[in-house]
Amino acid sequence: MRKDFICENLTVNDKGHLCLAGQDVVALAEKYGTPLYLMDEERIRNRCRAFKEAANICFGDKAFIAYASKAVSFKEIYRIMQEEKMYIDVVSSGEIYTAANAGFPLEHALFHSNNKTDEDVAFAMDNGVGYFVVDNEEELFVIEREAGKRNITQRVLLRITPGIDSHTFEAVSTGKVDSKFGSAIQTGQAKIITEIALKRKNISLSGYHCHIGSQIFSTDAFLKASIIMANFIADMKKSIGYEAEILDMGGGFGVRYLPSEPKTDIKSFLVTIGEKIKETFYKLNLKLPVIIFEPGRGIVADAGMTIYTVGTVKKIPDFVNYVSIDGGMTDNVRYAMYKASYTLFAANKMNKKSGFTANVVGRCCESGDIIQKKVPMPASIKRGDIIACLTTGAYNYSMASNYNRIPRPPIVMLNKGDSRIVVRRETFADICSLDE
Ligand SMILES: *Cc1c(COP(=O)(O)O)cnc(C)c1O
Repeated sequence: MRKDFICENLTVNDKGHLCLAGQDVVALAEKYGTPLYLMDEERIRNRCRAFKEAANICFGDKAFIAYASKAVSFKEIYRIMQEEKMYIDVVSSGEIYTAANAGFPLEHALFHSNNKTDEDVAFAMDNGVGYFVVDNEEELFVIEREAGKRNITQRVLLRITPGIDSHTFEAVSTGKVDSKFGSAIQTGQAKIITEIALKRKNISLSGYHCHIGSQIFSTDAFLKASIIMANFIADMKKSIGYEAEILDMGGGFGVRYLPSEPKTDIKSFLVTIGEKIKETFYKLNLKLPVIIFEPGRGIVADAGMTIYTVGTVKKIPDFVNYVSIDGGMTDNVRYAMYKASYTLFAANKMNKKSGFTANVVGRCCESGDIIQKKVPMPASIKRGDIIACLTTGAYNYSMASNYNRIPRPPIVMLNKGDSRIVVRRETFADICSLDE
């Protein structure tokens, strides 16, 4: 495999074209048009299985993996998750609606969000969502009221902030005391919310949740978080006699966007964390709760790729070069939002040496509409060439917009030599369909 290939689902064929899951992406661009999102179904399924196997090694069937579907949410992904016997995380009524529409059994869903509206709470209950992950006290009262109206007992987990910094980028770090998410152990609020939850009639407290951030490559932060959570659980058992049945350790498992980023074996990564959890609970003389992990990016990111057609190539001598593509921040906002890294290739010129570097930019009226800066390109790059941006399976389609009234690309799922549209291309009529 080429050194600059960051995932094993990448190859080059004898035409010098980039292939994803063995399929020529230049041919796919011709067939489906660009911009185009591609997803490798086998990779998605293999990732689900790798996470599950690792959890099973440590915990037997006393663990489950919930796919954090905010990473990419459309009906077919929920069908795949159902087939793979995964749980899912949802963060909005829109995701609940999509999953329900796909026939996903919502008793296997965990509902997150730091601000669930009254309507969200009611909608989730009416759709039979299994667990609410409660962010704050206020939410508990809304859940109690709505569960009371329906005469049900709603199972909940409490989102706890363990008070650690996962050392990732600020915007994606969520475990610190001053985070907008959850109730902190350090301030005593985590204990208070536990006591409140236990007293509420139509609420059954199943345990705790924490999520320390995203793009985490070292087990350290997870190990620290699990020790803090285990000690908190021990503390609750001792001080108020409540012993948690579930501990959800969140997601945030790092994914490679650049060849220079570390390659992690998710099985050994998860097993390291799992063994620490077991050891800590054993030492504290606690029964081992059901353990949940919630990968989003780790399931779908490197299954995805975005294909673009080159338009204008602009050279500003002694300054910078621009290669403009027919997509941009509307289909991938992550560079514009937090300077995210990506690896790009001229997909129809894979065997051509790189002759110059260019900023790959989108077509929006916005200088910040950049996919990536300083990308090595073959000197012959020109209008009509095909560019592939790797690792776009997570937080690309799900963050896509219609800025400049640009329609969103379709998603084409690749599997065993076949391809199928799982989200069709948006039309101009779709964009106008809401206008009076
Ligand atoms: C976003 C999120 C995840 C998934 O994060 P990834 O970095 O995509 O793995 C999991 N749990 C919660 C609560 C989240 O907010």
